[in-house]
Amino acid sequence: MKTKVWRVDPNIPDPRLLAEAAQAILEGKLVAFPTETVYGLGANALDRQAVQRVFVAKGRPAQDPLIVHLASAELLSQVARDIPPLAERLVKQFWPGPLTLVLWKQPHVLDEITAGLPTVAVRVPAHPVALGLLQVSGVPIVAPSANRFGHVSPTTAQHVLEDLEGLIEGILDAGPTPVGVESTVLDVTGSPPQVLRPGGISLEALQSLIGPVVYSARFAEAGDQLAPQRSPGLLAKHYAPRAELWLFLGGKEQALGKMRETAERLSSTGRRLGLLVSEEDRGLFSDLPLVVYSLGSERQLDKVAQRLYAGLRSLDRRGVELIFAREMATEGLGWAICDRLRRAASRVVE
Ligand code: AMP
Ligand code: MG
Repeated sequence: MKTKVWRVDPNIPDPRLLAEAAQAILEGKLVAFPTETVYGLGANALDRQAVQRVFVAKGRPAQDPLIVHLASAELLSQVARDIPPLAERLVKQFWPGPLTLVLWKQPHVLDEITAGLPTVAVRVPAHPVALGLLQVSGVPIVAPSANRFGHVSPTTAQHVLEDLEGLIEGILDAGPTPVGVESTVLDVTGSPPQVLRPGGISLEALQSLIGPVVYSARFAEAGDQLAPQRSPGLLAKHYAPRAELWLFLGGKEQALGKMRETAERLSSTGRRLGLLVSEEDRGLFSDLPLVVYSLGSERQLDKVAQRLYAGLRSLDRRGVELIFAREMATEGLGWAICDRLRRAASRVVE
């Protein structure tokens, strides 16, 4: 299959191209499209075979449920039931936007989408191209990130093609996605609500609207699994580049010191080493033979989030075998950035 590329303006997409992409969705085909977070791999949520094709194209295990995307919040009751007042407040405040809510599902929602769970994950994306596709097709669209399972999520159409060219009908290419990390996933079926994945809406923003939320960092488990005595087969690796990633934790000075020391030591081994760092940090390594990708200033976490996945993919493309990175701030978008780095890491150095 030759994958079509429909180039569109991110703010005012050509209606004829949207109609072509929507037609493909209605025919049960797979269409990748930009959301404000990352590129999604879209399929008609009402078409069982189309949904099954998503799992095949991505190589995604069937027990990993998909997020349903809607054109507007008014459509929510078509897929979810017993919507608590708290969810209504979240919807008012954050939709369209990078917040996914897990709610009780309507009976007709396909088991393939929810992995057999009684709940459904749903959101309204804040991107004119995504909203255009949803409106024109007139159906809810499932859209996991448009990458092969376990790999780094795509923030450009080029990234999507790297993973899925020839496996999908087409892609709406509207340039890089503005947020750069996935949506925050919040389960509101229990009380207090529980964060299942940090993302584009910060913990502070959630708490200031609804008060306490439960969040048990799943990467803490991943951290446990990273302990040397455990089998590498147990690694909870996800969002990962091909290269190994070593993540340095702790206070800034200490982490940088260790990182510098390790880079120095390993640069004589002939391994191709990469550095994923803030603009502030890079100077410290300028005398070493490293392939560097700058994430921009660590004071601008929105820019760091935008560049994070592109950075991981870029270092892979340049043949790096081992990437060094340091954990930065955890507030705001830093929450999601840290989570993704932890999951991408094959080793955590404290
Ligand atoms: P992505 O593949 O990036 O679209 O990620 C979808 C995320 O939503 C995954 O972390 C899923 O585990 C989560 N998710 C989707 N549906 C549900 C559900 N019904 N209950 C809990 N988590 C869900
Ligand atoms: Mg994904």
